[in-house]
Amino acid sequence: MEQRLIPYHLRKIWRAASEEPYWLHGECVCPCGCDRFRILVFADKRENGYPCTAQTEDGFALMIHGICESCGERYVLFDASRHGYDCSLYSAVPEDMLSPWLCPDCQADTFGIELFIQPEEDTPYDTEEEQSEAFGWIRMDLSCPGHTHTEWISLETM
Ligand SMILES: [Zn+2]
Ligand SMILES: [Zn+2]
Repeated sequence: MEQRLIPYHLRKIWRAASEEPYWLHGECVCPCGCDRFRILVFADKRENGYPCTAQTEDGFALMIHGICESCGERYVLFDASRHGYDCSLYSAVPEDMLSPWLCPDCQADTFGIELFIQPEEDTPYDTEEEQSEAFGWIRMDLSCPGHTHTEWISLETM
């Protein structure tokens, strides 16, 4: 998969994992070298405790931030109002409305992050940035030392 399709907002912390024909597969590594992050979310909860889109007064919202465990740098991992094919249905949420996500099994508060992105290749956009942010699907897996949360989010954005 071509590197130009990696979503712009993730490039600083993207490290390619495996080569896949239809997906970009990466893991998050802070430029400081650390690969563990605290996770902040604005979301509703699914039955298993994993996040899903929340309904707000203005429509819908889903925001996920990561904070590097080592240097404290904060990264936007996903903001449904800015990223994905159909972001116009979503609204942004102020940073202070996000709250920490803890492992439901062990209460761990830092995670390794794996990402799977299905890029939009068929519709041409004006800029590489727009093209890379108009992906059609995002899946994020989290892992704490004892647990792997597969499909922690798995979201079609169209
Ligand atoms: Zn860091
Ligand atoms: Zn755990």
